[in-house]
Amino acid sequence: MRCIKCGEKAIMELPRHNSAFCKPDYLEYFETQVERVIRRRRTFNRDDRILIGVSGGKDSLSLWHVLARMGYKTAGLHIHLGIGEYSSLSYEKTLRFSEQHGLTLFTVDLAGKYGMNVTELSRTLRRAPCSGCGLSKRYILNREAYERGFDALATGHNLDDETATLLGNILHWQIGHLARQSPVLPSTGEKLIKRVKPLYTLTERETAAYALLHGIDYILEECPNAWKAKSLLYKDALARIEAESPGAKQRFLTQFLEAAQARLQVGADDYVLRDCVRCGQPTTAELCAFCRMWQQATERAEKRKRYRETASGREMPTLQERF
Ligand code: SF4
Ligand SMILES: [Zn+2]
Ligand SMILES: [Zn+2]
Repeated sequence: MRCIKCGEKAIMELPRHNSAFCKPDYLEYFETQVERVIRRRRTFNRDDRILIGVSGGKDSLSLWHVLARMGYKTAGLHIHLGIGEYSSLSYEKTLRFSEQHGLTLFTVDLAGKYGMNVTELSRTLRRAPCSGCGLSKRYILNREAYERGFDALATGHNLDDETATLLGNILHWQIGHLARQSPVLPSTGEKLIKRVKPLYTLTERETAAYALLHGIDYILEECPNAWKAKSLLYKDALARIEAESPGAKQRFLTQFLEAAQARLQVGADDYVLRDCVRCGQPTTAELCAFCRMWQQATERAEKRKRYRETASGREMPTLQERF
């Protein structure tokens, strides 16, 4: 297998592009893909300050690495989710990367700032960990980007993530989600920061190769809650289709973005944003979804505490106190 650009021995084959590259040409291909997304999708300008959501995984660290290499003004934000050893390791990898490359890293500790980690939140609300975790990450990333004066918020979502989300949204006909599924979500209010996904045309395998070739030390372990996420099932199904028909994933997403997404926008902006009465972040209701979730979690936790105290104090709890 030879590199299609220079004829040297190839180290990376890309069946979906019917091509193969040597190390320097693969790294150039990767940067060209990112540069193309930035230019075509107008994600951000040279002067913009970009906050990158970094988990310590291959995608977010590769994104941070490539944007910093290209000279963009970046900083990272790591959210410590408190998911056991996985979160400690994620933080360590992120911190080491930022120190090695002399990049600014901000950290938010979910339990320290809001009172519970993802595991406690999930137990208290009796909801799947990913639902509270996803909502918290979206909220905190936007809030931190706004409060720290960033122009754009970038995440490491890749082609596999985006096609799995697309498949899930179609299977459940989540029209609202489909209308908002885009590599660039422009700011629709002063406090809503533009969200961009510069890696959305590159696969997981391609970002992993970029990280390995640059010696980026990323976390290999999956989040222990990941197996509960339906997205893994969708990724498996799409991988089988891709194996039979190289390029299928890319076509699935590109054709959705080009042919269908704009049509779903009709009526998507027919809502009025106002400030959440509790935190001041933009929302369509009185309380934003994040504050509603935390209010519910706090009330339940207090109720349980009272119940335990009553039980240990030999008084039988009332039905109301139990629930
Ligand atoms: S798999 Fe679920 S719980 Fe784990 S980091 Fe992702 S969203 Fe959070
Ligand atoms: Zn080459
Ligand atoms: Zn709020």
